[in-house]
Amino acid sequence: MRRESYEISTCPVCGSRDAREIASQDDVREEVEALWAFHTRRLRPDTPPARLTDRVAFSQAPPLRVVRCTCGTVYRNPRERAHELLELYGGDAPEPAVLEGLLAAQRPAYDAQAERLTIVAGKPGTGLEVGSYVGGFLAAAADRGWRFAGLDVNPHVNAFARTHGFRVADGDLAAADPEPPVDAVAIWNCLDQLPEPRAALTQASRLVRPGGTLAVRVPNAAFYAGVREHLAGPLAAVARLLLAHNNLLSFPYRQAFTAASLGRLFDETGFEVVERYDDALVPTADEWTRHWAAVEEAIVKQAVRVAGRLGREGAWLELYGKRRR
Ligand SMILES: [Zn+2]
Repeated sequence: MRRESYEISTCPVCGSRDAREIASQDDVREEVEALWAFHTRRLRPDTPPARLTDRVAFSQAPPLRVVRCTCGTVYRNPRERAHELLELYGGDAPEPAVLEGLLAAQRPAYDAQAERLTIVAGKPGTGLEVGSYVGGFLAAAADRGWRFAGLDVNPHVNAFARTHGFRVADGDLAAADPEPPVDAVAIWNCLDQLPEPRAALTQASRLVRPGGTLAVRVPNAAFYAGVREHLAGPLAAVARLLLAHNNLLSFPYRQAFTAASLGRLFDETGFEVVERYDDALVPTADEWTRHWAAVEEAIVKQAVRVAGRLGREGAWLELYGKRRR
């Protein structure tokens, strides 16, 4: 058993202590149980236990308590101490076959993200991806003419990425020092796990050239907070579906942002927001998913994406910014 050590936290965006509890310890326990029940129903009975565990046991243990700041940011309070996070993410050593599967499965989503980044940037150039993991985005970016390097705290996964020819370094943002500065920094599905998101974007602003692009993808705090309010009411079944299919049930993150709170972080670290994209979680159905469940997943995610196009909050949020000159 891993024993976590915790500390009382303040809002990672605005520093305020003025937050309201949105999920108590009992609420979180109920969300974890609902998540197990959700996946158990949707997977084939012969699914290996390890593949079920992948879906429910996230790298981070469930939160003790989740709060929402007046600025919109949702975060764990208390939270796990920062040094534990590095041990958590640096230590995983999944099988090469599992990593190979992830690389292939993530490719279509990363193609779309690389496309959006290229449109915002105007043309391909040099870049740095923080949290590059198996290299799915590095591959998609290279196909569009970008010269991206990756950065990840997990040396096992980096070794795998290098076997595919990707340029990746071991470490976190504090260790990055590209000279000259790059045309773009991308932080996909990672700022939500970092111990100090403000410090991360401050560092990003030193790495991107003036006029260069910052791309960030995070879980949407407005979606989580708004939908989880219905977990106890007549719409509970729909709320559970929306949260579970978007990997938000039980809040397996350190923090989540709204467009406004992430925009504030962009602004205060030297980036002007130029584009917002509301999305659903990338597809997750695989060979162990029952057919009806794969269809359900596709419908739920398409509905969330369409709602996003119509101006509603997406479950996942991308913000693109330009570094001020
Ligand atoms: Zn705040």
